[in-house]
Amino acid sequence: MTETFMPDLKSEEELRALQLEGLKWTVRHAYQGSPTYREKLDEAGVTPDDIKTLDDLKRLPFTTAQDLQEGYPFPLLSVPFEKVVRIHASSGTTGKRKVLCYTQKDIEDWTHFFARCYEMAQLSRQDRVQIAVGYGIWTAGISFQMACERFGAMAIPAGPGNLDMQCQFLVDFQSTVMCCTASMGLLMAEEVNRRGLRDKIHLKKMIFGSERSSDAMRRRIKELLGLEHMFDIPGMTELYGPGTGLDCVHHTGIHYWADYYILEILDPETLEPVPEGETGEMVVTTLRKEAVPLIRYRTRDLTRAIPGKCPCGNILPRHDRILGRSDDMIIFRAVNIYPGQIDHVLSGISGIGSEYQIILERRDDGKDYMTLKVERDHGVDPARDQELKKTIQGEIKKQIMVSTEVEIVDYGSLPRSERKSKRVFDNRE
Ligand code: ZN
Repeated sequence: MTETFMPDLKSEEELRALQLEGLKWTVRHAYQGSPTYREKLDEAGVTPDDIKTLDDLKRLPFTTAQDLQEGYPFPLLSVPFEKVVRIHASSGTTGKRKVLCYTQKDIEDWTHFFARCYEMAQLSRQDRVQIAVGYGIWTAGISFQMACERFGAMAIPAGPGNLDMQCQFLVDFQSTVMCCTASMGLLMAEEVNRRGLRDKIHLKKMIFGSERSSDAMRRRIKELLGLEHMFDIPGMTELYGPGTGLDCVHHTGIHYWADYYILEILDPETLEPVPEGETGEMVVTTLRKEAVPLIRYRTRDLTRAIPGKCPCGNILPRHDRILGRSDDMIIFRAVNIYPGQIDHVLSGISGIGSEYQIILERRDDGKDYMTLKVERDHGVDPARDQELKKTIQGEIKKQIMVSTEVEIVDYGSLPRSERKSKRVFDNRE
């Protein structure tokens, strides 16, 4: 029998029992090992003995990025130093970077569940995996590689960039899988076609790192390379790194490893669970992490749970792609809206470009109004503006349940930036 990296769980009850055991262990371990956690738990009036059901998760205090920054350089460390075998760090755009420690077991667990990603993507030991992501302190290319080797496929540790070399590897080594960012995927796809290499390569699958990618971009990559599948691999340094889930070949959402962490999806304002299927902030609690366990860690990333069963039959639950950051949330007429949701709606409408702005204002009647400025796509007739407006308004109403005014502007007239463009202009008091 082929080795499997899937959990040996037959039912959701078994999964919940495993989670409860992991939760109890984590709270006790953090309480005993980390003075910071002990203080936080004491303040919340919770002791490890109080954790009797999964419902007791609600009683636990939140952990935030600030906790990690304040504990710099080795925050929330819950084991003695001699047990730490590696560190990784996030580059951190604001404040101090977050440094995370790993024990030998943490590395082994990470490697094991990352190998599960390759299994989920239906790789075999015949596959040749070109790993074109960064290696080093910030990123965890090493995890892609260790898991690939553990899985038994052949790793090609190419690193990022260098399209010339990447193309050569695709041809010479006949790589079947490539791991990279979606932007690099697009560059590769265009380069392969520009050089007329399409018939000389054997690439079947791509696995994209956490960077957000539009559906249009993904369609183009798939088409240019004739790929069978593209997968999204989530990952944040705080929670081991990449490999904490993957969509299966049905692509109905990202199966996440609920035997390694509990995912709550909470309203970032009230910190209460959102109704099932609605967008909220991902809050994670680890179940086996030794060096730096996470207790209700607020990731600031937004997604939604995907209800129901996946056609693949796997019992591991699913969440959607990352839809944005909770810091970007807009409250408009008592509805929580994230720019990522608008982005998602717009990317499904043809005839418009990828650039847009959201303008909020309070008018004399005391009510809030939202205007979307959207670019007409390159080469689209301005005579279609009315029709585009109607489509956009209709789709926003249907999918986000708010009314908006729409202004169609010329292609190229909204500012562009190499970095993240400012999209929300809140002119309300
Ligand atoms: Zn599935």
